[in-house]
Amino acid sequence: MPETPTLRRDGTPWRPLYVEAIDPDVCIGCGRCFKVCVHGVLMLIGLDEDDTVVAADDDEAERRVMTLAEKGRCIGCAACRQVCGSKALTLAA
Ligand code: SF4
Ligand code: SF4
Repeated sequence: MPETPTLRRDGTPWRPLYVEAIDPDVCIGCGRCFKVCVHGVLMLIGLDEDDTVVAADDDEAERRVMTLAEKGRCIGCAACRQVCGSKALTLAA
């Protein structure tokens, strides 16, 4: 049975692209993706000098990176990748 396509309001097909991963070696923790995502998918974390996860506002945080807190909540709008200047996000159908 053919898959029913997702449609835009005008009836044209929409192919969602869901967030799959964020590369912690590329992400600069700028928070731009977080600001555009209204679905609670993303969360900023801190990494200490040993790359152990700490709270983003912890004094031990040497750097901050974005992570996928609730990957299953993604609707596939791709807005996060659109605003990421570092190309840290990987999306998939
Ligand atoms: S994934 Fe991109 S937009 Fe999001 S915090 Fe990292 S560098 Fe910034
Ligand atoms: S694709 Fe859309 S819903 Fe999914 S994480 Fe990015 S901005 Fe949020």
